Amino acid sequence: MRVAPAVEQPWFHLVAGSQPAVLVVPGSMIFELGDDLFAALDRGEPDALAELRSYVKPARVESGELPPVTALSLNVAQACNMSCAYCYADEGRFGGAARLMDKDVAFRGIDTLITNAPGRSVTIGFIGGEPFLNRPLLHDCVDYARTTAARTGIAVRFSVTTNATLLRDDDIRLLRENRFAVTVSIDGGPSHNRQRRLHGSRESAAAVASGISPLLANPGGARVAARATVTRENLDVAERIARLKELGLWKPGWLRCEPARGPS
Ligand code: SF4
Repeated sequence: MRVAPAVEQPWFHLVAGSQPAVLVVPGSMIFELGDDLFAALDRGEPDALAELRSYVKPARVESGELPPVTALSLNVAQACNMSCAYCYADEGRFGGAARLMDKDVAFRGIDTLITNAPGRSVTIGFIGGEPFLNRPLLHDCVDYARTTAARTGIAVRFSVTTNATLLRDDDIRLLRENRFAVTVSIDGGPSHNRQRRLHGSRESAAAVASGISPLLANPGGARVAARATVTRENLDVAERIARLKELGLWKPGWLRCEPARGPS
């Protein structure tokens, strides 16, 4: 991704590729672009900028004001131990090579978030791919963020989106003790094994259930939600909710079904 033109137009980013696109920062909207409009935006032509402005909320764009940043998502593992049929993220690789975030990048992000949020509470999310492929960094980030936030007098919350198949006892403790909002990718029902394939095994549904069960039995301070992906392959949503309830993924506010494709 490149920024164009970065100084004058910080509210959008042009994304080159086989399908040119633009990410509009206010509202986090992505539009596909024709080649001509892409080139015109790249050159900063006033007509092209006006056209793009017409697609977004004018007040926020014209004022140039973006809301203060109070949340940071760290893609700590650009890799995954699963290969889901509907993953738009190329099994977490996002079209590149599988790799893990290093500590320097993560800590600098945390520093920036906390430094620029005086008097506020902040949220740090861990995503992937599968974030627990980079377990040491994830644990270190929680320690570092807690220490840094305490020093500056702000509150920090944590969230993670995980397929839950790699969770160990020390991870469960981390999630409980740091009051994580945990989103588990679990489809419920037989489509899970068909759609969400675990490398080296076909029984991904059992692996997810086994991974998350200690946290469901004793969540401590954690909150657990299910993220279920609905596809045309299985539209019996009621049956799938029933399966999730059997696993214990059912309390008010604990179930969030998303008709979306995406990582984890
Ligand atoms: S949807 Fe999530 S769990 Fe599945 S392959 Fe993609 S990143 Fe991995």
